Formats: sequence, C-alpha cells, structure tokens
Amino acid sequence: MSTLWSESCISFVNFKKTPEQFFIAEHQIDCGNARAYLKENGIETVQYVQDKLPNLTELAEEIISLGNSFIVFYVNKDNYLLSKTLTRHIKESEEDINIVWFGPLKEELNIDSLVDAKTDAYISFEYETGIINLFKTDRTQWDSIDEVLTGTFQTANVCQAKACSSLDFIPSPYQTKLIPVDKAGAAGVMIGRGPDREAFFSIERISSDLEFLNGRNKKGQEVPLKLTARDLSRHPEYDGLLQMLESKAYQFAYEADVSLGCLTVRMLEQLVKSGIRRLNLAVADAAALGKIEECSGKMKELAVSGKVEFRFLFECGGLDEEAMLNNLKFILTEGITGIENTTISTGDKSDSPKGLPKRSCISGKGLRDYIAHYYGKNFKRKVLFHENPLINGFDSYMTGIYGQSNLNGFTKHVSVEKEELDVDQYEKLKEYMSINSAVYVNTPAASEGAPIYSEGSSIIRQENPVFDKNVQAAKQANYCLEHLLTIEDKNRHYELKIDDYYRAEPLRLEVKKYSEAKMNSDAPLDFIRIENESDLESFLEEVDYFISTGRFNKSYLIPSFLVDSCRWLDNCSLTKLPRFRLADDNQILPCLDCNKSVGSIDDMQFDVIQQTYVLTEEEQLKRDCDSCTAADYCSKCAMLPEFLSSERYCEIRKQRPYISYYINIVNLLKFLKRSTGTFRDIRINDVMVSSKYVSYYTGHVDHIGETEYFHQFVNLFIINGTPVFYMPLTGKVYKLTEHLAVIMELMFKGLSVDEIKGHLRDMYKLGDDQIIKDFNAAVELFANTGSLKRAVI
Ligand code: SF4
Ligand code: SF4
Repeated sequence: MSTLWSESCISFVNFKKTPEQFFIAEHQIDCGNARAYLKENGIETVQYVQDKLPNLTELAEEIISLGNSFIVFYVNKDNYLLSKTLTRHIKESEEDINIVWFGPLKEELNIDSLVDAKTDAYISFEYETGIINLFKTDRTQWDSIDEVLTGTFQTANVCQAKACSSLDFIPSPYQTKLIPVDKAGAAGVMIGRGPDREAFFSIERISSDLEFLNGRNKKGQEVPLKLTARDLSRHPEYDGLLQMLESKAYQFAYEADVSLGCLTVRMLEQLVKSGIRRLNLAVADAAALGKIEECSGKMKELAVSGKVEFRFLFECGGLDEEAMLNNLKFILTEGITGIENTTISTGDKSDSPKGLPKRSCISGKGLRDYIAHYYGKNFKRKVLFHENPLINGFDSYMTGIYGQSNLNGFTKHVSVEKEELDVDQYEKLKEYMSINSAVYVNTPAASEGAPIYSEGSSIIRQENPVFDKNVQAAKQANYCLEHLLTIEDKNRHYELKIDDYYRAEPLRLEVKKYSEAKMNSDAPLDFIRIENESDLESFLEEVDYFISTGRFNKSYLIPSFLVDSCRWLDNCSLTKLPRFRLADDNQILPCLDCNKSVGSIDDMQFDVIQQTYVLTEEEQLKRDCDSCTAADYCSKCAMLPEFLSSERYCEIRKQRPYISYYINIVNLLKFLKRSTGTFRDIRINDVMVSSKYVSYYTGHVDHIGETEYFHQFVNLFIINGTPVFYMPLTGKVYKLTEHLAVIMELMFKGLSVDEIKGHLRDMYKLGDDQIIKDFNAAVELFANTGSLKRAVI
C-alpha cells in the first residue's frame, strides 16, 4: 500500500475506474480541494492510494488502519457499488467510524436513501464546508447541517444551502502538496463545479496552478491535463480564460468538456489556439445536434490533422433516435471521430443489477442496426480496447503465468462449470478474490436481440442475463462483482463474451492437443494443451529443434498459448493462488491440467494457502529439489497431470535446462508480433533466434564461457538475414549492423573480453586499435540501451 500519510484526522477514499475497467484507489481533484481547505483550517487528512486492490476485508482493514474515525468517500456512478459494499464492510467491523459520502451522486444516481449503504451522511454540494461542519459536529446533530443529507430523504427535499459562485477560497491541492504533481494528468485542474450550483475558480487562481505545474514539467514535453468543468464555456470569464491559456502557452495538451449546443467555428479556433487537444462534446438536445453540421468542416479539419481528438456524448433522453443516427453516421463517415469515442444513451428502459439508474437503452432499430453494422465491419475479429485487459487476464488464467507485481495474495480468476454462482458461494469467494478479479462461467452467451445501452462511457453494452444474475447474487453477498467471462464450450471450440460488452460476433477460441494443433487464422485466441505422452513428445521435439537451430518448426506455436506453461518455467505461483477452478462441491482446483484440490471455499483462505505451501514443500522434499542441479530454473510443479509422473518431469527438466528459455522466447515473440511493427507481419519461419545455444554469425566458435553480460530478456533475432534486438527496458527494437551482431553473439557465448577481441581479429583481420575501438563502441551502445547486467570494460 502506498499512502501519503501524516498525523491525520480524516481519511479520504476515491475509487477510480481506469480505461481498462479496473479499480484503483487514487487521488481526485474534489478530494484534493476538500483536503486543502481542511488543511488550511488546521485539520490534517490522508488520501488512501493503492493500485493493487486486495479483497474487500483486507481493503476495509487497510482503510481502517489509517487510524481515523472519520472516513470520506468520493462517490460517483462508476464507483457507487464498490463504495457502498466497502462502506458496509467498514461499518460491520467498526460501527463507530463516521462515514461520509460526497460527489455527484445525486445528479448521477438519484438515490433517496443512505440507510442501505450504511453511510452516515451525504454532501451533495459545497463539499468543503460540509465536511468541516460534519467533522466539528457530534453525529447526533448532523441532521441540522445545511449541506448534509442523512438517513432517508427524497431528492426533492434536498436542502437549499446558499450558492457559492467563487471557489477561490479553496487553496490549491498541488501547491499544498496534497496531490503529487505527477498525478495532475489524472486529477486535472479544476475550472468550475456544477451543474446545480455552479461555482468557478478565477482566472488568476487557475493560472497560478498551471504555472506551478508547468514549472515542474520536463522541458519540451507536452503533458496531458484535464481542465475540469461541467462545461468550460460556462466560465464567467471564458474569453479571458482562453486568452490566458493562449498567451501563457504552457506545455499542456488540455482536455475539456464543452456543450455542443454553444459551440461555434470561432470557438473551436480559439480552443485550439489555447492548447485544447481533446474536446468532449455533450449533445443534450436537438438544437445541439444542429451544431454538428455547422461546425463539421472545422471539426473534420482538426480531427484529420490530428490537432484535436473529439469525443461525443449523446445523452438525448427526449431526442429522436433517427436524428441521432444521422448525426452519428455523419461524424463517423466524415472521420471526425471513431465509434470508440462516442457515448450513446437514449431511452430509459431496463433495471441495472448494480442499483444504478435505469439503463438508457438504444431502442430504435435504425440506430441498433447501424451500431451492429459498425461493430461488425470494424471489429469482427479484433479484440476491442476495453476487452484487452480481460483477455490478457484470461491468457494468464490459461497459462498460469502471472506478473509477480500482480500477485497480491488474492485470487484473480475463478472458473466454474455452470452459469451462476449462488449467494453463499459469493459470500465465501469474496474472502479469496481481489477487487479487480473476474469469474468465468460456462454457458451459452446468446444475447441476440437483447437491449443495447451504454452506462455513461463509450463502451456499448448489451444486456447479458448471465452477467446480471451473477452481479445480483454477488451484491446480495455484499460483494462487488465487476467482471464476468461467459464461456460457451462447443467441444474444444469456445465462444467468449466479456461482461456485458457488446460485440457483433462472439470472440472465438480453440483449445487443441499439442500433437494435433494446426494454425487456425480464424481464431484470434488459441490454446494448446499437453494432454498425454504423445503431446509431451511432440512438445519436447519442438523444444529440441529450436535449441539446435534457433528456429521454429511449427509456426502456430507463436500465436498460441500453452496451457499451464508455468510448469515449464522457473517460477510457480501456486502458493499465491491467483487462479482456480471451483468444483461443484466447492473444492478448489488451482491448476488446469491437474485435478488435485487444495481445499474448499468453505475453509478459511488462510488455511487453503497454508495447504498450498504444505503440498509444495512435501513435493520438493520428496524430489530432493534442494540438491538438484535444475533447482534454479525449474518451477518444481507440484500439480502434474495424471499421465506425467514426477520422475519423468524431473528427468525432462534436468536433461533440458533450456525449456524455460524456450517458453520465454515463444512468449516474447508472441508479444513482439502483437506490439511492434518490425515483427507484426513477418512469417515466423523467417526468424532465427541467436543465443548461447546456437549462433547465426559465429556458429564456428564452439567454446562457451561463463560470463553473462546481458539481462535475461535481451535477445538477438535474425529476420531474413537482418539482425535486430529487442530491449524490454525501453520497449524498442534496434536494428544492428552485422559487426555489432557478431560482437553480441560472442558476448552471448560468455567469452572473456580478450577472447572476444581475439575472435574479432580472426574474423575481420583488423588491427588491435580498431578492434578495441569497435568493441568499446558496441559495449557503450549496449550499456546505453540498458541491456547489460554488469560492467564489461
Ligand atoms: S527437476 Fe525435479 S528435483 Fe529438480 S528442481 Fe525440478 S522438481 Fe525439483
Ligand atoms: S503447480 Fe504447476 S501448474 Fe500449478 S501453478 Fe505451479 S507450476 Fe503451474
């Protein structure tokens, strides 16, 4: 946990949903403002900050352990369910702690009671004075405070406190060091607050914050920064504000929200001059729609030239869907924006299982058909941006490979062979699962014809009854289920639906036996499995072929993932229990190719984790891993499939010390093919990997030394005769000259510096001075890219 901790009286909590749809506990501008105001009034506060959220119990304990009996949650539509669930957890364990909510809850959710949430009070505006008044007043008297709502209330009865038009009484959260400067990109600089009671900062105050932040920017680097306001153009000194931004020309790429209804071509020009690079346009009525055509020429010019990115938020409750459809078609076909940058909400039809306001469904056939067509045309087989993190999680679940930094002692993925877990199971699972975890259920994901909607973000969703039922059951267990993969098993062919994300076609994947696998370009996700001795032989043949040639015999291996790959690596995550299959009798089966249980969810999580340690240690004692030559590079897999005895496993691992290297190279190539231009379109047969086992240029040098010069993941690839190397630290692919590649190969072989120079002399017939110069230059280049693990010269 990382917190900015000091002697404090009030803890602030804000859960932010990242674009990848995971929660982090993060700084937030309203929290920063309130904290700055409290500080000025002699009240110290602390913000809970955590990017790896544990399970609910641990999370509640972490927040309680900050030591304050007054906790303030910033609550909005995104984090409502999590805030509510956590509030109940805290209250159940410490009834005396005061919990206060503030934020745009009233306008976003229309709630009329805090009783169910167990929150003691809610502040809907004038947050700073509200919090301070609550803090200074005994809880029994809270009802009498103007800005505050307690217990059950009707939104119509919301008290009308005096409006404040200037926010300048609030000190800067940046200049008071309550929000670190490097968080400004995410937290933004506040321009104004609203909409019910609009209040703004003055130009001087805004400028002072920008000046302060700009002074801490790296020279020449444009930093994204959101100017936070309901509508930038409603600032009372709007023209002056833009002039200030233009004249100061700070190093920021600003993002701002503006109502489309007031946009003009002149305004667009002014905004661009002021440094606005991303514009979120709210389309609230028919008049606003008219502006799209009026400004389209300018918008197109700005979008096409890359000067401004436009996002459209169509939130026309009463607007004719036909008109919206025409405008949507227009902005997409004109290239003003992409569908991933449009949020569409129209009617108000179905209930949300999360207790959010009714979903705004897209009911008109024309609009639905267009969205289906657009998603079908553009995203048929592609994994969408918001699906990507969950697909990566699914890959981890299948392979058993989890980044060490992602393992926080709580389970990330649980799969069941049925479509729904009951309340009791969620009650038990919540002790195991971290906040950002996902449940995988096995059932058809058919939702054809179901309502389409978006919940205030650009993600188009489609009602998925399986998702809704699971969210409901989890909610009854006071657990907040965010992610669910629906997997339909069609005999080694699977169809996947993620959460309730809309897609025109389901994601398809196949799981093949290793010995029978073939390339299948239709399936974007493929897994291969070692299920019997013949598969194992096939796998070992491939490993040996690669090690002796540096090449791959079967090109389908690169796009495919090997199920339970962790077994062949140097690390096992069993004792962290990041994944498990949950059997019908609640038994926990932690690995995919092995049906051994490590306990039941009816047991305490602590006991189950203990059992994984016992099992691991017993196996290692039995095999005498401590005195084994393979100990450093073997994962010591304790969950072997039935056909594979521990004797056979150990024999393979000892005879082939390079298996984990092979698996790592396959995974690296998979990554490079997905993420780099150099590798994207190459045929895998055209790649050779040069290593200490096999060399492209220096194959004649068979002496292998002891020295390891390079970090583990530095590799030399020869693509159709061109040497390139990938440096994970920088994420870059470097093309090398042949001369440099030769030096690299000789270093891979672990030869001493004198031996390397000797070989260079023999190969190139150069004088000593030139050899030293070339070698030193190569070492300097490798050092500059962060590739070397030790000093060489
Ligand atoms: S090869 Fe066998 S004995 Fe050696 S470390 Fe691996 S599991 Fe242990
Ligand atoms: S026990 Fe084996 S299969 Fe399971 S996580 Fe460890 S290495 Fe992977």
